[in-house]
Amino acid sequence: MEGFIGRGSDVLVVGGGRSGLAAANLALDLGASVSVVDDDPGAFSTPPWEALRRHGGRILSDRKIGPWIREWSSPVLVSPGIPPIRWSGEVVAPPLPQVRGELEWAASLWPHPIIAIAGTNGKSTTTALVAHLLTEAGWKPFVGGNFGTPLSEGVRNVREALGKGRPSPYDVGVIEVSSFQTESMQSFSPALYLLLNITPDHLDRYGEYSLYRGAKMRAVSLFGPDTTVIWNGDQEDYRTGRSIGSARAAFVIRGDASGADFGEAPVLRILPDRMEIAGVTGISPGRPISTEKFLLSGGGNQQNLGFSLLAVLLFLEGQGRMVPMELLERGIATFTGLPHRMERIGTVRGVTFVNDSKATNVGAVEAALAGLSDAEKPNTVLIMGGRDKGGSYLPLVPGIRRHVKEVVVLGEAREKIRQELSPYVAVEEASDFYEAVARAFSVADSGETVLLSPACSSYDMFHGYEERGDRFRDAVRRLEEQFGGERSRRAPDHRHEG
Ligand code: ADP
Repeated sequence: MEGFIGRGSDVLVVGGGRSGLAAANLALDLGASVSVVDDDPGAFSTPPWEALRRHGGRILSDRKIGPWIREWSSPVLVSPGIPPIRWSGEVVAPPLPQVRGELEWAASLWPHPIIAIAGTNGKSTTTALVAHLLTEAGWKPFVGGNFGTPLSEGVRNVREALGKGRPSPYDVGVIEVSSFQTESMQSFSPALYLLLNITPDHLDRYGEYSLYRGAKMRAVSLFGPDTTVIWNGDQEDYRTGRSIGSARAAFVIRGDASGADFGEAPVLRILPDRMEIAGVTGISPGRPISTEKFLLSGGGNQQNLGFSLLAVLLFLEGQGRMVPMELLERGIATFTGLPHRMERIGTVRGVTFVNDSKATNVGAVEAALAGLSDAEKPNTVLIMGGRDKGGSYLPLVPGIRRHVKEVVVLGEAREKIRQELSPYVAVEEASDFYEAVARAFSVADSGETVLLSPACSSYDMFHGYEERGDRFRDAVRRLEEQFGGERSRRAPDHRHEG
């Protein structure tokens, strides 16, 4: 993709969000002439867009995005938040020579190795954890992509430093990628690609699971032997995935995984208190990595840790660098996780409140339930609901039977969830968020847990999962004021639900 955009290119940037802005600015830096378009022209009324205009950027507001993209003959950069159906009429846009995603294009200009993190759940946590471990080991990662800062902004930072005769502020990119960013990719070659898991999500956009799965797999078909894909050895998907493209394979498996044969490939095996690694140069096979001090529980976090560790080890191997085992173990012990993912908020009258607002699909809730410790009888009150994404809630039944004494449902999906789950567990409806939390609190006994893990997006009632999680925190605070309690505090984060 070298030279896709350069001096004199006439570029169309689609999307008035943060990725669009970063892409537009980077294209301007490269000497291109830049036009931007969004179906909502109000998106451009903020100061950074005013600044872009002053620097020669053109805002197109006279038509919808579809005709602009279809008729633009020179390079088009599309933001991940723009669903292809809005301009191509297809659920997954066909790859067009003149159209690229913001991330794919930025990656072609990024001068350092990339560790890319993909999958249905755990991307943000794993991205943050890989970056944390690398930082502990003395690296300077850029962290972003779908999570936080767009890669185009990272590329601009590198160019700015180099332009001033300074070294790049980074030496590696740790990049979260969503299926919206990989589904129409045409070239991408990260050093490592972590495919954490694939479970149903975004069926409201894709319609069928196979299309969603295909979007997640697509990037793999582009890779050559310089990329290592880390597969989830517990999921069958890797068997198909391994046969498409020519990337090297590595695997993360749980201790009790089937007796699958992974050949000579590097394998990390997750055990309750440690991880064992085979096939990585510099790690003697008998040397386990202790994970006893890892602070995060539940929600698939052991899996995230396994992927993160194997990624860092393979990255260091690829760079021909020593593996600083003690530094990695220190990194494991000092990672505190991200807010809104199995985040312990506080305890009121012996009832513990856990905020997993980021659980916007069924797979995330399954992982949340699977991570709860077994008790004599179900001891968790689960708050679910929001905007339905088109799948079934029935996969939750085994976890619910084991751990959940009552489900409190709210939001647009409440009737569907009630119908599907009420044969298996008591289900109560609540009409607003405070009522849901108060109801859950009244049902939970001392020593039990109230878990917000909604399995739905938040957009029926909130601007995003952060706002929903903050409302939960606020509701818990009100209970604390009323009844007294202990609180755990964390800063809010900012990110799209994807
Ligand atoms: P993503 O960026 O893929 O949405 P997050 O790290 O933000 O991932 O976590 C999203 C949700 O998925 C949270 O509810 C979290 O508890 C849950 N989760 C985290 N890691 C995993 C995993 N490996 N498998 C399943 N669920 C997970």
